[in-house]
Amino acid sequence: MRTLTLTGLSGESRLVPAAAVDALAANLSGPLLRPDMDGYEEARQIWNGIFDRHPGLIARCTTTEDVVHGVNFAREHGVLLAVKGGGHNSAGNGSCDGGLMIDLSPMNRVQVDPQARTAQVEGGALLAHMDQETQRHGLAVSGGGIISHTGVGGLALGGGFGWISRKHGLAVDNLLAAQVVTADGQVRHASPDGHPDLFWALRGGGGNFGVVTRFTFRCVPLGPEVYSGLMVKRFEDAGNYMRFHRDYVRTLPDEMTAWMVIRHAPPLPFLPPEVHGQRVLVVPFVWLGAEAEGARLIEPMRQATPSLGEAVGMNRWVEWQSGFDGLVGHGARNYWKSHHLAELSDPCIQEILRYGAQLPSDECEIFIPHMEGAPARVPEEATAYAHRRTPFVLNIHTRWQRPEEDERCLAWVQAFHQATRPFARGVYVNFLSDEGANRVRDAYTPPVWERLVQVKRRYDPQNLFRLNQNIAP
Ligand SMILES: Cc1cc2nc3c(=O)[nH]c(=O)nc-3n(C[C@H](O)[C@H](O)[C@H](O)COP(=O)(O)OP(=O)(O)OC[C@H]3O[C@@H](n4cnc5c(N)ncnc54)[C@H](O)[C@@H]3O)c2cc1C
Repeated sequence: MRTLTLTGLSGESRLVPAAAVDALAANLSGPLLRPDMDGYEEARQIWNGIFDRHPGLIARCTTTEDVVHGVNFAREHGVLLAVKGGGHNSAGNGSCDGGLMIDLSPMNRVQVDPQARTAQVEGGALLAHMDQETQRHGLAVSGGGIISHTGVGGLALGGGFGWISRKHGLAVDNLLAAQVVTADGQVRHASPDGHPDLFWALRGGGGNFGVVTRFTFRCVPLGPEVYSGLMVKRFEDAGNYMRFHRDYVRTLPDEMTAWMVIRHAPPLPFLPPEVHGQRVLVVPFVWLGAEAEGARLIEPMRQATPSLGEAVGMNRWVEWQSGFDGLVGHGARNYWKSHHLAELSDPCIQEILRYGAQLPSDECEIFIPHMEGAPARVPEEATAYAHRRTPFVLNIHTRWQRPEEDERCLAWVQAFHQATRPFARGVYVNFLSDEGANRVRDAYTPPVWERLVQVKRRYDPQNLFRLNQNIAP
């Protein structure tokens, strides 16, 4: 009997009958790619260039039935299964070596019902697809992040926050229903009325429970323009600015979202050339309201410390949503580490500044979003997304180009993360790297974790879906 060697669920080699592979290829409406086939190289790529993984097979799925065939194949033959949505996850979970990749990227259709104000979004859509289609109707999905080449799938299953989530909630808070292919190959419709346990777990539990082929989101009216922009501050004043900002943003209405980013200044046209490449503190914001009121609210931010430059005004929402894409394109090496912060205390700011002064590459960012608002008003146990009450997040986004820089960049992020651990209260599951089984628990409270394990036992007792921030059954 002809066989093909693939990687098994525990990383072992498995001999799979070639006839089974041929049958999978025949059943799919999209192509089943092997390493020697056209399109394989492109399909295997994920965002984080640190991972150079080569799946044994890639099922380019175009329908839910394709996903069912892929899941059944992996389960029946004990083959390691990776599910790629947008492929953006910094932990590289969208791909694998030697197993089967279910590539959802051809499933990127978005259908909006403007009367009902809902959007049906396929499991492989990117934020760009969702933003463009919803904006054609003057709508948006809240909690859809800030970089348009991020996948809706991974983002929405982990939580999903963005510029308007303080006002309108996380992606999980706007999810009305999900069509899921579970490990047994069944297509299930999870909602408050159908499989409510599964629906609860999907809203924060990541890709542990099945492949979501279609999300139904609530939409909110937005745009087409929003008052938004960036102020760029001197790094030398960052301590003063940060102490002002941490208190000021907490007094602002939910319509205003203002974040902080420490990085080297990109060559932005509104910055004097001598600022390019210098260490700076960037303050981006979005205001959902009248321009004059937004201008009034940002004035204290403008005055707190001098700006090196700023670009503030009415921006088209889809352009704002993709305006930062170029800073975090595909292929660079990335390692993220993160904490939710109980507070942005003086000692915490001190550590941030200490490591901010030593950014190990031009592309590293220290990203500090402000989270309070609508997400914090949802009861902790309503969804699997936990840690709703922490006001700030610290995301250490380490990014560089050459393998020779690995050691230096990784040493910086590890030390920084350790130094800020005393201020942490949990972590956002979507900002975790591959940090081990125990660390995944930090993304959840103990009762949420227990409940997630129970749902996992029910829907995926074999742990077929294990290439994720894994909740072992
Ligand atoms: C540059 C950048 C900016 C970001 N900005 C934000 C932000 O503003 N807000 C925010 O909340 N997050 C943000 N994130 C984090 C983002 O939410 C996660 O990286 C998320 O995992 C990306 O989803 P993906 O589908 O692109 O990833 P993938 O790597 O494809 O998938 C990630 C995980 O989800 C699973 N998965 C993906 N799709 C599905 C599906 N349809 N069904 C079942 N499982 C699935 C995968 O198996 C994998 O385990 C950002 C990430 C990056 C790299």
